[in-house]
Amino acid sequence: MPTHKLDLLENAIDSFNEALRKYQDGLANDPKAYKFAILHFSHFLELLFKYYVAQSHPLLIYKNPFSKSIEKESTIGLWEAVQFLKNEGNDISTTFYQDLEWLKRLRNNIEHYRFEMDIPEARRTIGRLTQAMNEFNSNFSDFDLTDHVEPANLQIFEELADEYRAQLAHSRVEAKEQSEDGEGHYCTYCGNEETAALVMGTYICKFCEEEDSETNCCICGEPIRISDAITWNDEHAPHIDYVCEACDYRIRNMN
Ligand SMILES: [Zn+2]
Ligand SMILES: [Zn+2]
Repeated sequence: MPTHKLDLLENAIDSFNEALRKYQDGLANDPKAYKFAILHFSHFLELLFKYYVAQSHPLLIYKNPFSKSIEKESTIGLWEAVQFLKNEGNDISTTFYQDLEWLKRLRNNIEHYRFEMDIPEARRTIGRLTQAMNEFNSNFSDFDLTDHVEPANLQIFEELADEYRAQLAHSRVEAKEQSEDGEGHYCTYCGNEETAALVMGTYICKFCEEEDSETNCCICGEPIRISDAITWNDEHAPHIDYVCEACDYRIRNMN
């Protein structure tokens, strides 16, 4: 019986764990590791989708399941597997499809040495795909992806699989990368720590996208953020004078 169903699953899980390991290396300041994370991740998706098809019947992973010499038949690819699941009536969303196509394009570029990757976009796409796969798998398959994640990868997996946490984590990494002082800053708009990058005197939040520029208190001269500042004098617009909370408090309580 030419069934490689369990091999498929085992290989898929191996690739997934390897992708998560490389992803962590990427986060630990090794940008080249993202390239390998993408390659392992696309391999994982291809094998997992084939495994899904094999759930219906193991012979369906062959392009010609009616062949007289089945072991010589080539097997189906990712898109055929995806189409099969669609034909079976499974719901595959347009965004998921687009992300798969994006990943495939990127993988082809990597394989043909025309390697150009927008790293923040790569991280976000891997996050979205992990969420989609985790959800899809829990509705569809006979196993829980979480049970197969190696202990050292569990934290990053749970972060990626949770949409809100993944977005927050991506924003923090981007803020740190783009900030001129190399640090993520507090955002006064969404209230998140370390999500804002400081760029030319403006705090730009990578999570809620609000911008907060810096000014100086017109009394003590301390740098303050506009969102925290109190308007002191706006009679000569567009020039506005701001004061910090401490000066404002002191002046109000002088008498
Ligand atoms: Zn924000
Ligand atoms: Zn002041």
